[in-house]
Amino acid sequence: MNGENTNDPVSTGGRWPLHWQILTAMIIGAIIGIVVNSGDTPLPDTVHVEVKRSAGEIRLTETVSRGGRSLVLFDARFDGRTSHLDHAFPEVAAALGDAEEAAFEAEDPRVRVLSTMSGYTVVWQRRHRGVPAVSRLRASRPAELPEYWSQWLSEHPVSWRHRVTAFAKTVGDLFLRLLKMVTVPLILTSLITGVTGLGSHGRFGRMFRGTLTYYIVTSFLAIFTGLVLVNLIGPGRGATLPGGGEVVHSSDRTLTEVIYDQVLRLIPVNPFAAVAGGEFLSIISFSILVGMFINLTGGDSARRLADLFEAGFAVMLKMTAWVISLAPVGVAAFMIYATATQGLEVFATLAWYMLTVFLALVFHAVVTLPVLVAVLARRSPLRFFSSMSPALLTAFSTASSNATLPLTISCVEKRAGVSNRTSSFVLPLGATINMDGTALYEVVAVLFIAQAMPGVDLSLVEQITVAFTALIASIGAAGIPHAGLVMMAIVLQAVGLPLEAQGIIIAVDRVLDMCRTAVNVWSDSCGCAVIDQRITRTAASG
Ligand code: ASP
Repeated sequence: MNGENTNDPVSTGGRWPLHWQILTAMIIGAIIGIVVNSGDTPLPDTVHVEVKRSAGEIRLTETVSRGGRSLVLFDARFDGRTSHLDHAFPEVAAALGDAEEAAFEAEDPRVRVLSTMSGYTVVWQRRHRGVPAVSRLRASRPAELPEYWSQWLSEHPVSWRHRVTAFAKTVGDLFLRLLKMVTVPLILTSLITGVTGLGSHGRFGRMFRGTLTYYIVTSFLAIFTGLVLVNLIGPGRGATLPGGGEVVHSSDRTLTEVIYDQVLRLIPVNPFAAVAGGEFLSIISFSILVGMFINLTGGDSARRLADLFEAGFAVMLKMTAWVISLAPVGVAAFMIYATATQGLEVFATLAWYMLTVFLALVFHAVVTLPVLVAVLARRSPLRFFSSMSPALLTAFSTASSNATLPLTISCVEKRAGVSNRTSSFVLPLGATINMDGTALYEVVAVLFIAQAMPGVDLSLVEQITVAFTALIASIGAAGIPHAGLVMMAIVLQAVGLPLEAQGIIIAVDRVLDMCRTAVNVWSDSCGCAVIDQRITRTAASG
């Protein structure tokens, strides 16, 4: 039944193939985004930066004088004992040194205000002794911003450029909601149907072991690639980490807590709550159990239940196909938003770092994984890649493996001809725990930070620690945008690096997130092809 669905837009017969539609939409979206990108506006005022120690804390204020009044642009307090200021605002920390207070004028102050339906983000940039610094301030209403910025907003009304950007963001978000809407029912029905289709226990066990082995091996290959390239290129050597005013709300859990948390999630106390809350790991484990126990129960009534889930799966696949047919619009919208809101300055500062992440990802995606597909799955990697392209392009533009999952399942089954028994198990689990791109990214980012920190030199043992913790972080990261950035805290902690050092790399995280998510989804898909060939087919013929 699963293979019978013929009017599926993913495998459009007569129409222009979906991957070309998506690719074209992406390019058009990027071009519109670049045109709409409003660039940074230089501030007409002189900005005074003051930093003072008092009563165990350090206070940083940035103000301008206007008509005898002092307007606040930025005001933050830091604990005087921690090195928070050093890492968030190294240029300010350097100016302060051991003194009680320091003051200077910001060089080349610029701003870019982004407005979306849900509020405003002020991206505020300046330099001190040539070192760039970027702060982001977010608020839902202008009145919540520091006084200078709320005045700025009233003097600089939102332009058509912002309206286009905000509209694109809204359209993109609507598409994302549609994808999310189908995801949970799709995983549930697909997984139960897949497991009941596997029949005997032995086959399930083999698939489980095979899948986990694939996940771990490929993640380590990705990590190894990252380690080699970051050591070879050394993007952080001699680099000055510019400050980032925004500190990520990082996960402050320890490694053991992360592992324990994942194990707990495997056993939902209330499976219905897990479904309602979209808890992927819980849904996966419960669906597997339901499938297994349908098989163990056997008989007519169990068969009816299996049929019900199979019918549900067919309906969800159809609904997914409809959502997917809207992908070109959603993807174009995301591209407009992504390119219209990025400032170009930070790209130059972090060019080597970005290049290292990018080259390592490319190596993993075009050398390592294709070799596995050719050797273990006995498929043409190129043809397989072309079958998966709609999913990969969507992963790239949405930066979310979870949101892409419906497309991944659809492409693997309809375009690449992998059986539902394999894909229903390998893909949902993969979208949740198999993230080669994220693991690789963690390693490169953390070693980049270490290289750029004066006096820090990670030993081999520490690099191995980074490798292992990166694997855990990638397993723990959710398949949503920026999850890898949040989980990086665990890796930084493991080798004693300060969390605030993430400051600047946030600025370019979106682009790298897009690339690593495409690699995450590509690795899940390759795993599907490998497991299908090695386990499902051999079991079926044996
Ligand atoms: N965005 C990635 C994903 O969904 C996770 C990450 O941030 O690395 O796969």
